[in-house]
Amino acid sequence: MRVVIVGGGPAGLYLALLLKKASPRDEITVLERNPPDATYGWGVVFSDRTLAEFREADEVTYRQITDRFVLWDAIDVYAHGERLRCGGHVFAGIARTALLEILQRRCAELGVVLRFRTEVRQPEDLPPYDLLVGADGVGSTVRSWHAEVFRPRITPGRARYIWLGTPRPFGAFTFVFRQTEWGLFQAHAYPYAGRMSTFIVECGEEAWKRAGFHEADEVQTLRRCEEIFAEVLRGNPLFSNNSRWIRFPTLRTVTWHHGRIVLLGDAAHTAHFSIGSGTKLAMEDAIALARALQTYEDLETALEAYELERRPAVEAFQRAALQSQRTFETTQRAMRLDPYRLTLYLLTRSGRISYEDLRVRDARFVQRVESHLASEWDEVRLPCPPVHLPFALRGLRLPNRIARRPASACGALDGLPGQAQQRALCGLAARGAGLVLTEILAVSPEGRITPEDAGLYRGEHGEAWKRIVQAVHAEGSRIGAVLGHAGRRGATRSRRFGVDLPLTEPWELLAPSALPYHPDGPVPRAMGREDMEAVREAFVRAARLAAHAGFDLLHLHFGSGYLLASFLSPLTNRREDAYGGSLENRMRFPLEVFRAVREVWEGPLGVTLPASDRARGGIPEQEALAIARAFREAGCDLVEVTAGQTVPDEDPTYGRGYLAPYAEAVRLEVGIPVLVGGGLTLSEANVLVASGRADLCVLDLEGDGFVDKSPPSLVS
Ligand SMILES: Cc1cc2nc3c(=O)[nH]c(=O)nc-3n(C[C@H](O)[C@H](O)[C@H](O)COP(=O)(O)OP(=O)(O)OC[C@H]3O[C@@H](n4cnc5c(N)ncnc54)[C@H](O)[C@@H]3O)c2cc1C
Repeated sequence: MRVVIVGGGPAGLYLALLLKKASPRDEITVLERNPPDATYGWGVVFSDRTLAEFREADEVTYRQITDRFVLWDAIDVYAHGERLRCGGHVFAGIARTALLEILQRRCAELGVVLRFRTEVRQPEDLPPYDLLVGADGVGSTVRSWHAEVFRPRITPGRARYIWLGTPRPFGAFTFVFRQTEWGLFQAHAYPYAGRMSTFIVECGEEAWKRAGFHEADEVQTLRRCEEIFAEVLRGNPLFSNNSRWIRFPTLRTVTWHHGRIVLLGDAAHTAHFSIGSGTKLAMEDAIALARALQTYEDLETALEAYELERRPAVEAFQRAALQSQRTFETTQRAMRLDPYRLTLYLLTRSGRISYEDLRVRDARFVQRVESHLASEWDEVRLPCPPVHLPFALRGLRLPNRIARRPASACGALDGLPGQAQQRALCGLAARGAGLVLTEILAVSPEGRITPEDAGLYRGEHGEAWKRIVQAVHAEGSRIGAVLGHAGRRGATRSRRFGVDLPLTEPWELLAPSALPYHPDGPVPRAMGREDMEAVREAFVRAARLAAHAGFDLLHLHFGSGYLLASFLSPLTNRREDAYGGSLENRMRFPLEVFRAVREVWEGPLGVTLPASDRARGGIPEQEALAIARAFREAGCDLVEVTAGQTVPDEDPTYGRGYLAPYAEAVRLEVGIPVLVGGGLTLSEANVLVASGRADLCVLDLEGDGFVDKSPPSLVS
């Protein structure tokens, strides 16, 4: 077989040598535009797990690469004038030039034809081939010849970065944050050879311009970066290697092969540099492609098998990389965290390290974090896992950070709760939740989602809830009443039969605009001023009943497409009066209701808000933050974020913990305590609390028992 590989980077060279090794009679040619010793960038990092595969694929290069490795196991974070170190991570670094040299030498030994200084511009530049491999990086020329098939989509990151080197040998993977007169600058530095380290400088567009980098030449750029990071560089210079300020291009393609052409490495996909995996992914692609070509005689089947094997793994990395990229693009907001929380925030940014992993990696570091968090509470005398810390909210003391709510409505007759509610809520309290939340309690009969919903709209309801509240208190938990009005999502059949199935004889529904939830569902009445007053008064009456019942916290549900959420979203609020149109107008009625409740309820008052409609044309992030800010200013003590259910045709991807990024944005940007759910495990809750992304976590996975009711000081 004649294989022509365009691009002599890690992907192209590694594939060439693996193919030649497996079938010495095949003709393998690599065309590389640069001379053999020229490359961009400095060192690259591998995580330890990668290496087993390399050893199996080619022991010779594995040995040479690992012989040149610089190994370290710590991550340092420099911020707010302090350095914190967490160990146990195991990284290996190597100069990109050294890696290429090893691969080139092995290719030559095995008889691969290496043609340097050969730039491929058009198909006519290629020698004859049976298989053409585009391993020519993110700007792939090969890919561009069939762009209509590969359909590349490049999303540039928001931040600017430049890949530099320095002779300062860092002893760890190092993150440095420097607040300057121009804005926040951060560096990602790691060693890769005896006396050399990679030093990537990153900043927001604004800071980049304010610091004059957009018009600085190379020397000015290096000197300014040296000034910014003088403290950690300790007098060492920074070097450039064809380095330019760019915005990271995340590349996705709809297919990786077409006829006799296949894409490999960065030509097919990229993943943000902050999870240090581009080279690893590129070389793993090579291993998979070489294996597929040996396994299947038919080329089409082999290329299909290669893509089938690699795509899920690559996409998982791309998701983690995107999360990591977003963290670094928005670190300004995390600067309000103290060094301990910030370090944890960075370590857990891509969701791949759990709290337990961290404890295994560096138990002393975790203990230092826990000691620091415990020191903020007088009553906590020994370090404990973060969810065991108490929490204070307008005079209410919660024994821990876990909240629970019943998984489904318990059933009620005309809104009256009974034994079922008491059993469910006491059961949750007995499992150790510091805060137990009710199901959504309707503030009026028409505000119910189903006829079986519990409510808080008659004196009788208040009395019944009083008994339940006392029973939950006896279990040692606090209890919050969640009040809501279903709006256009009301009058549906019990959820036992399915979600949002309308009753055959629905009651009259209310909404900001006369838009049904489902196209063939009942059409709600657009609310007039009188309706609004009645709804507001219903919330106030419910709040008074909640106070009478002895609830510890009141929570208004203005999310999930229910009545008040429908006012907030431009998808469901089409009013042309003072309650529709601009964000200020859309917030007007929900804020009126909130303020009216605030007047009669003295205790902690929370609100559930939509952070996103997960549908085109819905609430954008900046509006969601502005909404949370407006409620904070109106006296809200706690925000729970929801996302979606505003309209039925929404983005259907609901992964575990999908609400956490929204919660983080609200907590860090708005500066208000946040309650977050979304299918969290105990480990995830520990990470969210310890890293300052959330204050309280709703654990709602069955079986994730949290039963330790000891006081925090005894827990550890
Ligand atoms: C700032 C930064 C830091 C990074 N850090 C890491 C890290 O720590 N760890 C890690 O694993 N990865 C890292 N990466 C990613 C890594 O550099 C790439 O993912 C990796 O190099 C991909 O290998 P590749 O062979 O697919 O592409 P490349 O390395 O881009 O190689 C493509 C080759 O094709 C050649 N070429 C292009 N066009 C033509 C043409 N028309 N004709 C002939 N030749 C051509 C180029 O000269 C080049 O040699 C980082 C990337 C960046 C930007």
